[in-house]
Amino acid sequence: MRTQVGIVGAGPAGLMLAHLLHLQGIESVILETRGREYVEQRIRAGVLEQGTVDLLRDTGVGERMDRQGLVHEGIDLRFGGRSRRIDFNELTGKGVMVYGQHEVVKDLIAARLRDGGSILFDISETSVEGLESDRPTIRYRDARGEPAELVCDFIAGCDGFHGICRASIPDGVMSYYDRVYPFAWLGILAESKPVQEELIYANHERGFTLISLRSPTITRMYLQCDPEEDIAEWPDDRIWSEIAARLAGEDTPDLVPGPIISKGVTAMRSFVAEPMRFGTLFLAGDSAHIVPPTGAKGMNLAIADVRVLAGAFASFYRDGSRDGLDTYSDVCLNRIWKTQRFSWWMTSMLHRFEGTGPFEHRVQLAELDYVTSSRAASTTLAENYVGLPFGA
Ligand SMILES: Cc1cc2nc3c(=O)[nH]c(=O)nc-3n(C[C@H](O)[C@H](O)[C@H](O)COP(=O)(O)OP(=O)(O)OC[C@H]3O[C@@H](n4cnc5c(N)ncnc54)[C@H](O)[C@@H]3O)c2cc1C
Repeated sequence: MRTQVGIVGAGPAGLMLAHLLHLQGIESVILETRGREYVEQRIRAGVLEQGTVDLLRDTGVGERMDRQGLVHEGIDLRFGGRSRRIDFNELTGKGVMVYGQHEVVKDLIAARLRDGGSILFDISETSVEGLESDRPTIRYRDARGEPAELVCDFIAGCDGFHGICRASIPDGVMSYYDRVYPFAWLGILAESKPVQEELIYANHERGFTLISLRSPTITRMYLQCDPEEDIAEWPDDRIWSEIAARLAGEDTPDLVPGPIISKGVTAMRSFVAEPMRFGTLFLAGDSAHIVPPTGAKGMNLAIADVRVLAGAFASFYRDGSRDGLDTYSDVCLNRIWKTQRFSWWMTSMLHRFEGTGPFEHRVQLAELDYVTSSRAASTTLAENYVGLPFGA
C-alpha cells in the first residue's frame, strides 16, 4: 500500500493531522494498535484552549463541541481555606472549553470516515524503516494478523509517549529533557452534580486536589497521591472524604457524592525530545513531549504541533517548499518550552512536595496570594491557561 503521509497513532494528534491534510487534498493513512471503541472511550484530558476550539470550529469538526461543551471564563485557586477567582475573560478576552478528549476523538473519527479517509484499527507489531530515504515504510500486522506495509513520502509519529516512532530514531540523534515528579494524580469520573461551574485548583497541606467536570451531571476530580498508589485501597467513601478534607475551609464547596464510574492513577512527568524530526519522520504530540496535567496542556500541545506540521506538508505538496518541514521542530519547540514552563510552575505552586516543610508551604501560599491579588500576575496565569498565541 502507498500513501503520501503515513500516520502512526489515532489519538488527537494523528486524527487532527489526517483531517487537516484531507482539507488540503493530501492523502494519508492512520495506523492504530487499539480498536475504535477503545480509543473513543479513553478518558483523558478535557480542557480545550481557545486556539484548539477555533481550529476545531474552523475546520468543520466543532459542531457537537459547541452544542455540548461548556465555556469557562475563569478558574478558582483555593488555598488557606478560601477560593479566589482568576477571570480569564476580563484579563485576556478569551476563555477555554470543557469538552472531553474522547469526544474530540469521536468527532475526528466520524469526520475521517465521513470523508472516506482510512484508519486501520487493531494493527500490531508496528515498525518504521527507511527514515533517511524518500520511501520511508511502516510495517505492521493488520487486524487479521497478516503482515503488511505502507510506503510513504513522510511518516508522522503520533503514537504517544510509549510509541515506537521516537524509539526508532538512532541513538545519539536526540536530546531528552526529563523530570519525573514524586507524586501522581488519582483521577475519578463520578455521576455527581459538579460543585460549581468552573474548575477549582486547591493547594492543601494534605495534598493538591482539582475539581473539574465533564457535563452538568458528571464530575471529574483528581487527588494528589503516591505514584505507587494502589487503587484498591481507595474505595469510593475514602475518595469522597479525602476530597472533602482538602476542600474544607470558610466557603467549603458543597460536594454531592455519587457513583464513581472510573478511577485511575496518572503519573506526573515533564519531558521534551529534541529535535522533533529525523529525516522523513516527524514527531507530534505526546511522542515528543509530556507535560504534567496541572496546566491542562497535553492535548492542546498535540493539536498545536499538527497544525504546524499540516501547514508544512501543505506547502511542500503545493509548491515543493521544504522550508516549513525544516523549521517545524524549532517553531513547535519555541511554544512547547513556554508551555512546559507554565505546566511545571502550576505543578510546583499547587502540590505538596515530600521532604519540604512549613517554610516551603508558606512560600506557596504567598505566591498564590500574589497571583490572585496582582493584576499583572493574574494576567500571566490567564494568558498561559487560555493558550499562548501561535508564533509567540
Ligand atoms: C492516562 C492519561 C491521562 C491523562 N489525563 C490528562 C488530563 O486529565 N488532563 C490533560 O490535560 N492531559 C491529560 N493527559 C494528556 C493528554 O491526554 C495527551 O497529551 C494527549 O492524549 C496527547 O495526544 P497524542 O495524540 O499525542 O497521543 P495519544 O492520545 O497518546 O495517542 C497516541 C495513539 O497512538 C497509539 N499507538 C501507540 N503505539 C502505537 C503503535 N506502535 N502503532 C500504532 N499506534 C500506536 C495509541 O494507542 C494512541 O491511540 C493524559 C494522558 C494520559 C496518558
